Amino acid sequence: MNSKRLIHLKDGKSESSQKYVIYWMQQSHRVHYNHALNYAIEIANQKNLPLLVYFGLTPNYPEANQRHYYFMLEGLQEVKTVLEKFHIHFLFKLESPEKGIKQYLKDAAALVMDYGYLRLQKLWRKEVLDYALENDYNLSIDIIDTDLIVPVRVASDKAEYGAYTLRPKIKRLYLEFRDFSKIETIKNQKLLIFESDNDLTNIQELIDSLDIDKTVSISPIYRGGYIQASKMFYDFIENKANRYIDSNDPSLGLTSKMSMYLHFGQISALEIMDKMFLLIDQGNLDGASFDAYIEQLLVRRELAFNFVTYNKGYDQFEKMTEPWAYMTMNEHEFDKRDYLYSLKELENAKTHDPYFNAAMDEMFYTGYMHNYMRMYWAKKIIEWMPTYKEAYDTTLYLNNKYFIDGRDPNSYTGIAWCFGKHDRAWTERNVFGKLRYMNAKGLERKFNIDGYVKDVETMVKNTINHKKSIVKSKI
Ligand SMILES: Cc1cc2nc3c(=O)[nH]c(=O)nc-3n(C[C@H](O)[C@H](O)[C@H](O)COP(=O)(O)OP(=O)(O)OC[C@H]3O[C@@H](n4cnc5c(N)ncnc54)[C@H](O)[C@@H]3O)c2cc1C
Repeated sequence: MNSKRLIHLKDGKSESSQKYVIYWMQQSHRVHYNHALNYAIEIANQKNLPLLVYFGLTPNYPEANQRHYYFMLEGLQEVKTVLEKFHIHFLFKLESPEKGIKQYLKDAAALVMDYGYLRLQKLWRKEVLDYALENDYNLSIDIIDTDLIVPVRVASDKAEYGAYTLRPKIKRLYLEFRDFSKIETIKNQKLLIFESDNDLTNIQELIDSLDIDKTVSISPIYRGGYIQASKMFYDFIENKANRYIDSNDPSLGLTSKMSMYLHFGQISALEIMDKMFLLIDQGNLDGASFDAYIEQLLVRRELAFNFVTYNKGYDQFEKMTEPWAYMTMNEHEFDKRDYLYSLKELENAKTHDPYFNAAMDEMFYTGYMHNYMRMYWAKKIIEWMPTYKEAYDTTLYLNNKYFIDGRDPNSYTGIAWCFGKHDRAWTERNVFGKLRYMNAKGLERKFNIDGYVKDVETMVKNTINHKKSIVKSKI
């Protein structure tokens, strides 16, 4: 592992009473290509102790609903099975993790945490560190960034203005961070006595027992977990990667759909990149498609993490974009909107625009939407809401409610981009001012957009039929 992934937070002192090492899995829900897990195994081996992997599930995670929980639990079910094959104890507790984990610190020789970039994730980790310091516990504490290829603070020490300013910095560094080969074996395989609150064999039953928002159905299409992610990525490599250069067209379905797996850390961005390198090294991938994919996975994605790291107000309308963008919005606040829609009308895809409606339906029913349609969808909300702030709040609300990959650094950055962040000023026009404008004619000119609408209609029909057949089989 490149040592720049690690931040050492607290020294430890060896004591004969120490019984195990803990890896607190919070962000990176996987066994493969997980530097934090691997580092925890290495420490446990040095100390000849067993490893405890702790996961705490809170029913109150902000904005999380049944769709998110289900997908996440599918991934964790697999993590548990694989860890057990590696003789590592997986402790699954139904409690808020930053509270629950405290009781295991006293007897631990070391705590390893994975890095989380969002506000709450940072607060949780700080609370646990402070608790260990206040109680003068002897364990060492380290935190490891395993979800990015180049950790944000290594790539840049400031908020980047755009992809063009981050790109050269990250391109100089990223080869140094191809730093994973294989997972270590744990030497001390002694059984630990801790008991999980749920054995994760029946996810639906577990979901039913949780006091969470169940108004959003689970995705009928996308299943969580590393195996599913790997299957989808294999399909991408076999059938799509060579044509990724054309992936902007939503009707072609040429994207990898890795975002939902990356969001929960069910697959590593580094593993994906390594696989793309393998393809190109074997002469099995077109160079332009390789470059285009790496641009998204490495530059655009890591720009999003840069954004949430250095912009404290990353999720607030008043703070998320550039002064020129606020200025132009102020000047156009009272421009007449040709159409106005309520949140309910938007959410139920009841607008005059068939492309917006299709995108909204795809998101509502399946939990995913193509990048180009996400841009179009958000731009239409700006166009059809009475104020920019309402447009921002509505977009973020729908984004985080329906997308499986919602509540991600990419969510806040993608939406801020629609309000000018990381973009430039364009020719001034009604309602948008100097913000970039997108219209239906552009979609019609560039893509087979009617093909996309038809595909979504079929998808929705299948989803509804699938649901009806479940109801019938229950009767
Ligand atoms: C309004 C708006 C909202 C968005 N909301 C989210 C969100 O909630 N969650 C989320 O993960 N992404 C979001 N994005 C970014 C992007 O649309 C998705 O990451 C992408 O569509 C995911 O599909 P994919 O995995 O098939 O992408 P692919 O085209 O296969 O790309 C591979 C990977 O590169 C990264 N990537 C691709 N496009 C972008 C991009 N524009 N910006 C940053 N990284 C990118 C993703 O990690 C993606 O999985 C949003 C973009 C916009 C404009």
